[in-house]
Amino acid sequence: MHVLAETAVATMRPSLSPEQLRCLYKQKSESGRKRATRNGLWIAVAFYLAYSFTDYLFISDVVQYTIAGRLAVGVGSLCILELLLYRNAKADTVDMAAAVSVLAAYLVWLLTAQMTTIKDAFSYYMVFGAIFMMSVNLFFSFRFPVALAASATNMLIFIVALYLFAPMLLLHKLILGAFCISCFIFTSYVNLQLNRERYKVFLNALEASLQQAAADERGKALLQLSNTDSLTGLENRRAIDQRLRDYWERWQDHRVPFAVLLIDVDYFKHYNDYYGHQEGDRCLVAVSHLLQSVASSFGSIIGRYGGEEFIVIAPMQDSESATELAEAMCVGVRALVWPHEHRRDGTSVITVSVGVSYTREQTKQVDKVIHEADRALYAAKATGRDTLVVFDPEDPQSNDDSEDIAATLKIALEHGLVSLVYQPIRNVQTGKTDAVEALMRLAMLDGTPVSPGKFIPVAERTGSIIELGRWAIRTVCRDLLATDLVQVVSVNVSPIELKVPGFAGYVAATLAEFDVTGARLAFEITEGVELEIDKDVVRCISDLRKLGAQVWLDDFGTGFAGLSWLRLIEFDTVKIDRSFLHDCNTERGKRMLLDIITLLRNRGVKILVEGVETIEHQRLMQQYGISQLQGYYIGRPAPASQLEADNVLRFSTIRNPDSRRLFRNGL
Ligand code: C2E
Ligand code: CA
Ligand code: CA
Repeated sequence: MHVLAETAVATMRPSLSPEQLRCLYKQKSESGRKRATRNGLWIAVAFYLAYSFTDYLFISDVVQYTIAGRLAVGVGSLCILELLLYRNAKADTVDMAAAVSVLAAYLVWLLTAQMTTIKDAFSYYMVFGAIFMMSVNLFFSFRFPVALAASATNMLIFIVALYLFAPMLLLHKLILGAFCISCFIFTSYVNLQLNRERYKVFLNALEASLQQAAADERGKALLQLSNTDSLTGLENRRAIDQRLRDYWERWQDHRVPFAVLLIDVDYFKHYNDYYGHQEGDRCLVAVSHLLQSVASSFGSIIGRYGGEEFIVIAPMQDSESATELAEAMCVGVRALVWPHEHRRDGTSVITVSVGVSYTREQTKQVDKVIHEADRALYAAKATGRDTLVVFDPEDPQSNDDSEDIAATLKIALEHGLVSLVYQPIRNVQTGKTDAVEALMRLAMLDGTPVSPGKFIPVAERTGSIIELGRWAIRTVCRDLLATDLVQVVSVNVSPIELKVPGFAGYVAATLAEFDVTGARLAFEITEGVELEIDKDVVRCISDLRKLGAQVWLDDFGTGFAGLSWLRLIEFDTVKIDRSFLHDCNTERGKRMLLDIITLLRNRGVKILVEGVETIEHQRLMQQYGISQLQGYYIGRPAPASQLEADNVLRFSTIRNPDSRRLFRNGL
């Protein structure tokens, strides 16, 4: 039977041969065997001494000798046993000593008892020798060879004693001898069975524990797998979300503060486009290893939060230590010097941007911490990337009403909360208002106005901009172009709108609906921080041009990709950002603006300068030969109704191009 069990165990642990298993069995049973032998010998000695009473009953004339012998052997064997155990002898040695003790006990008793004159009683009494044999085979848990040797010796002693000391008929001696041999055979057989049984129990227990260990390992591996990001080996979003919940609970229950860092690999989309996805993966793995080593040196946890975004949860007291960690991450990734030649911002290695936030008394939800880290990350990217930004609750900019704004944007059209105002763009040479720019306005339900600088990014993030943008195009076509109120209207569009399929189709349908020619509609596109030159955007722009619509580049000079845009796309007009005009109070600023103008002239595009706030601004621009101007001095943004009121003026202006009054301070 145990062969089967051995095979089962050996199959589970192929490294274990049957010999090794037996060896393991011996090792495992060592202390158990020693304990059993010790208990056994103490009990056996107690009984051995107790049998002094039967000595007294049956062979009273030599009882003083037998008792002395019993005491000597009993005490002697216990002393030897305890000494062996004290010296940490092996179980085999302890068993051997116990077996020898049993044999000595029998021998000493025989030798003292045979001196009796009550020979008859002694002849029968010596049959008790069988008890010694039973004890080595059945009472103790000796291994089979030890038990066999001891009981065989015991049998020999018995037979020799029978022959030498027992004054009885040969027939009786033969009967007792046969009894003794039978006892030896039967008890040895039972001992063999017992030993096999013990080994089988061990094998079963071993198999059960191996199975348990294997099941535990499988369970652990599965758990590990479901919590691990397969590419980087970091914790995945699922695991990190759980961690965040744990940290949040500790913050709520015991006010243990923590910081959250969101880390984004800069220009990773470009990296993937130029180097391929395999290289992209390699890059992510390298960055993740670096971030992990930094995070663990700060006792923090890191996980992959999505694509090229990582998240770190750091148990920290203040924003300074969180800043140190973020700084170490930026520096560490830069020090990797992992090449990225296609990022268009002058840097040619991989870098990361980090947004940091931490728990504050006012924080009510864990999502808020993440949201704030996300905003800080957004700000870090807007600052030019390869940097960190810590969320600053004191900063009025960070006054987080974006959730309210997002909710308002959803219902804005249906509740009439959005409107358009129009700002004139004047040709100062002709004095004509060539066009107006449509600017969106939003009011909250209670009437509070929200600046576009605030609601446009939210609309872009939530996708509301798509519906709002289309509404703006339709409104402009219906209210201004179809009614011939103005010749050209420019509408601001976010690249997100251009990416969504069907934008150009919508424009075509709207132009057709109001019977307006494409050339009267201009689209202002900003080369902002977030803008990457997307294939879909380029395709959409070319579709718009096919419709005859104009495409203008807005805020030129503020982003990073301006020149690339100029190279890729044919713009009808480029609007130079107002900051360049406002910097013209210094010679350096003037030179800068002139350089930009020269560059654009060489490209052969029309130039428009925005932000004309004073007569001096206008004069300077005229001096530079720029005729298309926009700004508060030219006219402020105003609603269409006001535009209509000034309509008469406009037509009179067209008849009289010298008039400078058009729109002045009106729009
Ligand atoms: P922008 O396209 O650069 O629009 C010009 C902004 O400058 C307007 O701010 C306008 O009021 C302001 N401005 C005009 N003249 C002057 C001046 O002489 N000095 C100064 N300091 N500012 C002047 P507004 O209306 O707050 O719009 C801000 C931004 O919001 C716009 O910048 C544009 O990027 C975005 N935006 C506005 N309407 C829309 C829209 O319908 N769709 C999209 N996607 N974005 C829009
Ligand atoms: Ca604009
Ligand atoms: Ca602008």
